Amino acid sequence: MKIEKIESFFVKPRWHFIKVSTDDGYIGWGEPIVEGRARTVAMAVKELEPVLIGADPLQNERLWTEIYKGTFYRGGPILVSALSGIDQALWDIKGKRFGVPAYVLLGGPTRSRVRTYAHVRGITLEETVENLKESAAKGFTLFKTFPVDGPIRPLDTMETMEKAIERVGALRGALPKSCDLALDFHGRFSPAMSIRLIRELEQFRLMFVEEPVQCENVDALVSVARSTCVPIATGERLFTRWGFREVLEKQAAFVLQPDLCHAGGITEVRKIAAMAEVYYAQIAPHNPLGPISLAAGLQVAASIPNFLCQEQVSLGEGYLKKPFEIRDGHIDIPALPGLGIEIDEDFIKEMAYPGDWDTPRIYNDDGAFTEW
Ligand SMILES: [Mg+2]
Repeated sequence: MKIEKIESFFVKPRWHFIKVSTDDGYIGWGEPIVEGRARTVAMAVKELEPVLIGADPLQNERLWTEIYKGTFYRGGPILVSALSGIDQALWDIKGKRFGVPAYVLLGGPTRSRVRTYAHVRGITLEETVENLKESAAKGFTLFKTFPVDGPIRPLDTMETMEKAIERVGALRGALPKSCDLALDFHGRFSPAMSIRLIRELEQFRLMFVEEPVQCENVDALVSVARSTCVPIATGERLFTRWGFREVLEKQAAFVLQPDLCHAGGITEVRKIAAMAEVYYAQIAPHNPLGPISLAAGLQVAASIPNFLCQEQVSLGEGYLKKPFEIRDGHIDIPALPGLGIEIDEDFIKEMAYPGDWDTPRIYNDDGAFTEW
């Protein structure tokens, strides 16, 4: 079995898929992308063709190592995201070759269904509460939102604090006790502002607070984590086991959120999960991307013991011949071989775009750049 061809598809709203074909007719799908740099990652995949074309796709661990270490310079969002999408496609091929879901080859299933959460959005608070209720009606039981919508100053006003408390209180109040609410601080907050606000929000018994500060300085995250009883989550901007090592060793977060499209694919997120288990930490894959990313997350969820919840922004409606379904807050683990999905190629061709989506820039009221 040999890899024969790798095709690239830029797919709206901002995604990048690859289709890996073998000489004996197997096809594997992957989603190698960095949000805002789809074209750069597509080129990084193209540059790996000499390693991949003609190689045996079943030797995915060897190929992972060769791709990761073979360029001398290693790690970072671009190279590891290219590798992540390739890794997903190789697991898809391997599962199809043996006629089983990838999680079976990885020792699973460890569970029968995967808790999956919805984002809550809206311009006004009323709209946001309405959006929460709509998602609850669709079957979700776990929700995530921002405490503050828009820019935040390093030390913001009492008005901003009170609005955040009101927002989170209204959302939590609209949910029964059997449902959970988590917050994403999006790395927008200074450590001081984060500590101040989280203390005020402890009353709402949040499931976790994500990226209360940026991940570049783990000690700052430790300061926040030690200041509160709210579980801390991080990891969407960390890459490979080496990226997660310090967070675990310093016990800076209880919830790790490796992204299947950035952290090194299924192969690497399984290893991150094994490291996390030693520290009693849980895995909640980050996924603001497409249906292949979600499918890869479900395969990991179904093959590790320490899984918490899965993020999604699309259940694959249109993109998949059979989109995922939410029932009682969960997605059933897929039964089909490989990644368990069938891509509708006609639809993704209809959804083609030039790959030029870029991250929005936002500014504070004094005109200074601030984190999105
Ligand atoms: Mg996030």
